Order: sequence, then structure tokens, then C-alpha cells
Amino acid sequence: MADEKLKDALCYKTAVELRKALLKREISAKELVDYSYRRIDEVDGKLNAFISLTKQYAYRTAEEVDRRIKINSDLPLLAGIPIAIKDNMCMHGIRTTAASRILENYVAPYNSTVVKKLEENLIPIIGKANLDEFAMGSSNENSAFGDVKNPWNFNKAPGGSSGGSAAAVSSGESVLALGSDTGGSIRLPASFCGVVGMKPTYGRVSRFGLIAFASSLDQIGPFARNVEDAALLLRAISGNDPMDSTSINLPVPDYSATLKEDIKGLRIGVITEFLGEGINPEVKDAINASIRVYEDLGAKIEEISVPNTKYVISTYYVIAMAEASSNLARFDGVKFGHRNKDAENLMEMYTKTRAEGFGEEVKRRIMLGTYALSSGYYDAYYKKAQQVRSLIKKDFDKAFEQVDLLLSPVSPTTAIDLGSIINDPLSMYLMDICTIMANLGGLPGISIPCGFDSKGLPIGLQLVGPALSEELMLRAAYNFEQATDFHTKNPAI
Ligand code: GLN
Repeated sequence: MADEKLKDALCYKTAVELRKALLKREISAKELVDYSYRRIDEVDGKLNAFISLTKQYAYRTAEEVDRRIKINSDLPLLAGIPIAIKDNMCMHGIRTTAASRILENYVAPYNSTVVKKLEENLIPIIGKANLDEFAMGSSNENSAFGDVKNPWNFNKAPGGSSGGSAAAVSSGESVLALGSDTGGSIRLPASFCGVVGMKPTYGRVSRFGLIAFASSLDQIGPFARNVEDAALLLRAISGNDPMDSTSINLPVPDYSATLKEDIKGLRIGVITEFLGEGINPEVKDAINASIRVYEDLGAKIEEISVPNTKYVISTYYVIAMAEASSNLARFDGVKFGHRNKDAENLMEMYTKTRAEGFGEEVKRRIMLGTYALSSGYYDAYYKKAQQVRSLIKKDFDKAFEQVDLLLSPVSPTTAIDLGSIINDPLSMYLMDICTIMANLGGLPGISIPCGFDSKGLPIGLQLVGPALSEELMLRAAYNFEQATDFHTKNPAI
């Protein structure tokens, strides 16, 4: 097949469109993987979205898909569609770095459950995507493997921490991607890069084999070019897992089945706290225009106050850092990854290994988290944060008595300049103001493209719903997408 035709076949096409092409034998799964790698050769020198490529694995999966197509055998719905996974998910025999020096040469001895599920669904994993070290960050500038650039403007951050996953989908390197979201790390980069990104309900997707950052908040979720693809991918990775005791033991709905139903009478609450001070006027305009789209679709809009939102940043950062300090204690030079060679005794080996292996932001969090957990301070910080977390959850319970879904911006601004706030951790933490609440409440949230600012950068709309409301949320997102064309726009690279 001629290059241009192949390019046309993959770049910016959706999984659903590509499946039709595969079944009609207009293109093979091998050619799709070929195209992904060609596109990566073409643009990744600039973007830096990948840490490792997994060519052998991707081609092996594609071959199996092509073999089954040849004999007209049944094919899972996303079979043959290239996917990138964030490099904090373990893949057997493949380097899994979490974008940290400390795991630079760590080869995972087992598969995470999501990788197993992608395998069962014959979805070719083309590579491991760049991220902020241990998923700590909002701009993807904390990676030991270099910044990721935003495909819409190379001077801008792609958002973090799943910046590589978002950039890979946005630039046409991959059709799908997986990320992880502890405080917004799927939704923020999705909004900065103009793609769909979803954090499922806590426990919907197994965390087995995901390198832990903050275990009570972490959740894996899909990136895609549109809501329909995201719904298919969510279904493929969801479900109970005996290897993760926090995974939910309930059947996984067929999210695609109800996607196209209308949303007349749906009650949507607009969070007043997130449309006030500090929100960029262009973001505000786009959100107000989105509210009108929902009104035209027959939804009932109400203003909702979530008063404890003023505490979300402080609550989240105490809990996330405390859990991180405990989770990262295992990286001590003994069991995993990097070990300092010149230490003369065990203590020195621990300290030198950790000093060399961790980046600045990770060290900051280990120190603050350890402090918050230490005897004498535990009650004042960690316990207090857990209590406020309960208050925030109660705000949500109350809100969801009144409305079905909550609507807000994903972030107060569009993509920030690379380098602009990397030395100002507080400003960086404030970028998560609208996303963190869903993690604290264990609730699902989605980011969908809802406009562009005057510089041509994408703006994201966030919907958050009650636990296990993914079906409804995806339907609301799909209806919005059908009424607008923001998701069809692509960066000019
Ligand atoms: N930006 C947030 C943080 O740095 C969220 C990260 C995430 O969701 N993994 O903690």
C-alpha cells in the first residue's frame, strides 16, 4: 500500500473506523503497526512521547490478528488497533522505568493485569509512553527521560503525568493509549492535547502491576480520539481481579450499547467554585458554551456548590505524598533497579542509591510524606487529611442527590509553557484543582475536547459522576461530541 494511503488509513482515524478497514481487508494489522512506527520515526524525535518501543511484541500480536482475519475467525472489538501504555505498567520481559533513573534498567518479570487484558483482546502494544517520574507531576517535565512536547505547540507542556500517552494519541503515533490518574494525570494531559481521557471509578480497573504512587487514589484508564473508542477500551480493561483486592466485583457493562441514546432530562450540575476566580476567561467561555450545548441536547443545568473544594489541593497532597513515601520505600537498591556501587556499608548504600536514583520532585514528596506520617505529626496531617477527605465525599453524596453528573473545566488554563512553573511546585499543584476531587471521592471523570483558545490550544470539559456511572457519563460525553466538532481537529505536525 502506498505511503500516503497508509497514512490516511491510520493517522487520526478512530479504532472503530480502522476495525471496519481491517475486516474489509483494506489494510492489515501489520500495516497498522508499520504505520504507527513510521509515524513515530517521523515525529517522536520532536515529541519524546515514548521511552521504549515494543516492536517484537506489537508485530507478534498483529500477525495473530491477520491470521484470524484470514480464516474469518472471531475478533475482539479492538483487535489489531495500536496502543501505547504508560511506562508505569509492567510488561513481562520489557523495561519498565516509571520514568525514573532508579528503575532505568528494570525489566518487569510479570505482566500487569491491564497488559494481560490487552493481550487477550489482541491489541498490539507498540511502546511504553513517557510520564512524570512515578506519575508525580502535571506537565511531564519531571521525567528522567526528558520532557514530552505538546503536539499542538512544541513550546508547551502536554500536561502530566500521562503526557506521553496523550501526545502519542494526539499526534497520530498511536490510536489508543493507557494512562494512570491519581489526581488528574489522565484528564489533564487529555485536555492539553485535545483528546478524550477517562479516569474510571476507583477499583473498576485492576491496579495489579501498576507501579504504585498513591494506592488509595491510583486508577488506570483509557485515552482515545473519541468517546466511542474510549468506551470500547474501558470495557476491554475493566473487571474484577483476584490480584487486586480493591478491584470491584461487579459485571462490566457494555458501555457502547447505550452510548447513542439521548440525554433528555439529564440533570447536570455546574460546579460554581470552578468557574470563579483564577479560571482563564477563554476556558470559562468555552465551558459556558458547552453548557449551552447541553441545554440544547435537553439536559437540565443547575448550579451546584461543592464547598469543601477549597481544601482539595491540601488534602490531596498530604494523602498522595504520605502514600508515595510509603510505596517508594521499596526502592532501596536491594530488590529493584539501580544500586550505588561505592557505598561502604548498608546505610550508605541505601542513602546513596536513593539520592542518585530519585529526581527532585520525588524526593520532595518522600520527605513531605514521611513527615506527615511521622509520630507526633500523623494526627495533625495524615489523619486530618483523611477526615477532610470524608467531608469532600459527603459534599459529593449531597450533590448527587440533586444532579446526575457534575460539569467543570479540566484545568484553569490551557497548556502551559514548558519551563514556566517547573521551579514553583505550588503553582504546579494548583493545576490539579478541578481534577483531584474525583480521585478523593473514588469517582469516575472524563475529559473531552470542548474548544480552543486564541492561540489554538485545546480546552477540555470535565464530567464527574457517582461511583460506577461510567455508562451514563460516556453517553453524556458522546452526545456532546456528536453536537460539536472539536474532537475532529488535529495538530498540524
Ligand atoms: N499532578 C498530580 C500530582 O502530581 C496528579 C498526578 C497523577 O494523577 N498521577 O500528584
